[in-house]
Amino acid sequence: MSSISRHTSTTMYACPHCNKPGISALRRALLGPAIPATCTVCGRKVGVSAGRTLVATAPFMVAVTVAPFAPTPALSIAAWVVGALAMFALFFKFVPLIKR
Ligand SMILES: [Zn+2]
Repeated sequence: MSSISRHTSTTMYACPHCNKPGISALRRALLGPAIPATCTVCGRKVGVSAGRTLVATAPFMVAVTVAPFAPTPALSIAAWVVGALAMFALFFKFVPLIKR
């Protein structure tokens, strides 16, 4: 899928150390408080705030909690999907990259 590879290669996030776009979208998506990324420009470690990551995962935690009580399996799956999408949206919009 050329459209996907083009997307991931052009969507880069600014590194908090050197302010250059050294963090790929894929790498940012895999970032966690305990899993730092390495800037492709300056090679220094980049992470995310643990507190804000916790806030970003809140919608997914709510979805996981309510999904077993959904009246139908389809609604249960819908809760998971909406929770996961909300988590990723929050993670990209609300959780800033920080120096590690
Ligand atoms: Zn950098």
